[in-house]
Amino acid sequence: MMKYIEEFRDAAMAIALARTIGHEIEPGRTYRLMEFCGGHTHAIYRYGLPRLLPEAIKMLHGPGCPVCVLPIARVDQAIELARLPKVILCSYGDTLRVPGSGRRTLLQAKADGADVRMVYSIDHAVTLASQQPERAVIFFAIGFETTTPPTALAILRAQTLGLKNFFVFCNHLLTPAALDALLAAPPDQGSWIDGFIGPAHVSTVIGTAAYRQIALRYQKPIVIAGFEPLDLLQAILMLVRQLNNRRCAVENQYHRVVQDSGNRLAQDYMAQVFCQRDTFEWRGLGKIADSALAIRPEFADFDAERRFPLPERPSREHPGCACPAVLRGQLDPANCKLFAVTCTPANPLGACMVSAEGACAAVYAYGRQPIRMPL
Ligand code: SF4
Repeated sequence: MMKYIEEFRDAAMAIALARTIGHEIEPGRTYRLMEFCGGHTHAIYRYGLPRLLPEAIKMLHGPGCPVCVLPIARVDQAIELARLPKVILCSYGDTLRVPGSGRRTLLQAKADGADVRMVYSIDHAVTLASQQPERAVIFFAIGFETTTPPTALAILRAQTLGLKNFFVFCNHLLTPAALDALLAAPPDQGSWIDGFIGPAHVSTVIGTAAYRQIALRYQKPIVIAGFEPLDLLQAILMLVRQLNNRRCAVENQYHRVVQDSGNRLAQDYMAQVFCQRDTFEWRGLGKIADSALAIRPEFADFDAERRFPLPERPSREHPGCACPAVLRGQLDPANCKLFAVTCTPANPLGACMVSAEGACAAVYAYGRQPIRMPL
């Protein structure tokens, strides 16, 4: 059994796995596999897997990068919140760099005088609120099921402390609903996907059972995978074998971490504090029913949307930015005409170039030498 991280990066084993994949693909067949999670996209390019895999394997990059799928209207609203008097707006570093309408960002709002602060944990925002009772501290919460339990715990902690000045601008998303929406889309928008590499961190919370209905309904295999190169290659081999055998099961390559039922304690905290929104707009995927969370009425005192109601204003994508197509796996980032020309990590024009988990940023950092390894 492998115990150390270096063992999951063993080059000889990676080449052997890639050869096995090559031997098992059916002649003339293309396998269009989407990795949902931006962490997987990053790992795929960081470890050069596209150069190792046979051409029959087409890796499509999915919408599982939290800052990438944040709709522009919500970024615009966060900027408006930050500009309110006596407000401190806190969030994670990448969130502050996501362009809203007219390429405005929270960092620019900070430069213009708004009190915007980067935090490493939502707990820092709770502590800040307890230290500055005369200011309203708003946490701009984003992310999938991985970052949702800490937000739930922070709201419970704020309640225990009796804080009246801590608020959450909630943008937490639900992964299975996005998978469902991708597969339900017409063929030109998503249903050409043959199988999924399922997310790792999200699955530690929701478990593998959460995907079973989707795999059955759309007859698509899903393999939950870890982040190391051997994890990903093994998951690709498991998908190829399922597709060759006309199977559509949910399999768990990452069983050293992910369990079938997930983390029940984390799920309980989420259910205690959040409820489902009827619908939510995802950048690139449009409005998806039951795909996001709102703060329950019992915790309304901590809900920034209730305390500081903001109108939804029309938002504007940067003209020429192809993020929506990239997020649906329809366009390779390098084929966006702005990629590495005017759009770079230092000067991102779209959200997919901001975070290391964004497909455009991953291809920019690691994926610009399309040389295949001789196997
Ligand atoms: Fe958007 Fe930049 Fe990616 Fe093009 S390269 S899709 S402009 S983020």
